[in-house]
Amino acid sequence: MIKIIQTISELDKIKRNIKNDYALVPTMGNLHQGHLNLVERALEDFDIVIVSIFVNPLQFGPNEDFNRYPRTLNEDINALNGLIKDSDTKQIIVFAPASPEVMYPDGHQTTIRNTVMDEILCGKSRPGHFEGVCTIVYRLFKLIEPKSAYFGLKDYQQLKLIQRMNKDLMLGINIIECPTARDENGLALSSRNRLLSVEEKQEATLLNKALLEISQILKGRDWKSSKDIVQRRIAEIKGIKNNILKWDYLEVRENKTLSLPKDEDQNFTIFGAAFLGKTRLIDNIEVKEG
Ligand code: AMP
Repeated sequence: MIKIIQTISELDKIKRNIKNDYALVPTMGNLHQGHLNLVERALEDFDIVIVSIFVNPLQFGPNEDFNRYPRTLNEDINALNGLIKDSDTKQIIVFAPASPEVMYPDGHQTTIRNTVMDEILCGKSRPGHFEGVCTIVYRLFKLIEPKSAYFGLKDYQQLKLIQRMNKDLMLGINIIECPTARDENGLALSSRNRLLSVEEKQEATLLNKALLEISQILKGRDWKSSKDIVQRRIAEIKGIKNNILKWDYLEVRENKTLSLPKDEDQNFTIFGAAFLGKTRLIDNIEVKEG
C-alpha cells in the first residue's frame, strides 16, 4: 500500500501510529531504477519505508538547473506502487512536501556545513551545494526519525558527507550504501539524463569510460607506483577536444577520507564531473585492494 503525505502534521500523525522501526529513502524524485533499487533494498529490511520526494532549492546554485529539474510525482508514485508485492505487510509512505516552505518554514536561517568537503570536488565546483544537502538531510532525519536511511554510491561524496554529519552530530541513524545502477552503455542512471539530447547522452558515456580506464591502471597498485602514469593519462583525457563533453574535474582520491592519495595508499575512488551542454553529470568508481 502507498500513502502520500504533503505536510509535517500528516507526517507527525502517521509517525504516532507506527509501532516498529522504519526506513527513509531521501530523493528529489523523477525516480529511475537506481532510486527504486534503494527502496527495494529498504523494503527487504523494513516493513515500512518512507520515500521523500523534494527538489531542495537550497542545494542548487543561482545559475543551476533548479527550475529545469524534472518533476514527475504521478509517475514516481506509479513506479513505487510496482514495488509493493505483499501489501499485507509492506508499506511505502511518500513524503512529498507541497512547497519549499513546508521544509523551510518561518524564515529559516540555520544551515549545516562541512568545511572540509566544501573545498574539494563538487564542494568546490558548486558553492553551497553540500551545505544545502546537509541541511535538508538533517531536517529529514529529525522530522522522520528513521532507524536506517539508504543512499546511493552514485553520489559517493554525498554519501561520505552524510556519514560524516551523522557521526559528527551524533544522529545515530544507520546509513546504508547501495550500488550504482547504470544503463547498458555504462552511463550512471540520473534524473538529469532526461535533460540530455541524443547526442549529449551518447557522449556522456565518455565519463564512465574515463573512470574505468583510470581504474584499470590503479588496480592492484599503490599510489607511488601508479601516480605518474595516472596523472599523465588524466591530463591527456582532459586535453581531448570532445564535441560536447567538457570536463569539470577528473581526480583520484583516497577512498575513505577523500583526501589526495599518499604514496602507500591502495584504495581509491576516481571522481569525474562533466558538462554535456547545460547539464552537469557526475560519476565515480572505487578501486579497492585485493
Ligand atoms: P537524487 O534524487 O538524485 O537526489 O538521489 C536520491 C538517492 O538516490 C541518492 O541517495 C542517490 O545517491 C541515489 N541514486 C541516484 N542515482 C542513482 C544510481 N544511478 N544508482 C544508485 N543510486 C542512485
